[in-house]
Amino acid sequence: MRKKKPVYEGKMNLKKGDEVIVLSGKDKAKRGKIIQTVPEEGKVIVEGINVVTRHQKPRSASSRAMVKQQLGEMQKPMGISVAKVMLICPKCHKETRMARSAAGDGAMVRSCRKCGEYVDD
Ligand SMILES: [Zn+2]
Repeated sequence: MRKKKPVYEGKMNLKKGDEVIVLSGKDKAKRGKIIQTVPEEGKVIVEGINVVTRHQKPRSASSRAMVKQQLGEMQKPMGISVAKVMLICPKCHKETRMARSAAGDGAMVRSCRKCGEYVDD
């Protein structure tokens, strides 16, 4: 028996842990690992990509100390459209589109169009 695979919905071809390269925008050509997928929005959240820093002006000394403490949480990566990223094949390390095919038990597995290797375990 294979382990249960997550159900793919829509055209989300990427999943958590995939390494991707950004194709356009301010983070173009940057690489990062997907830390979360947002299938309902067609977006992925990628480590270090599209990071937004929220600036808050502290009103007093005490709140300034508080803000400083919370700074780590003020920087968070925002979602980026799956159309703007491309998967990097973990096998051949090239940017690639995935081919999808059904495995024996009906689960979808992805394979690299360039080297033909299965990307999923
Ligand atoms: Zn490959």
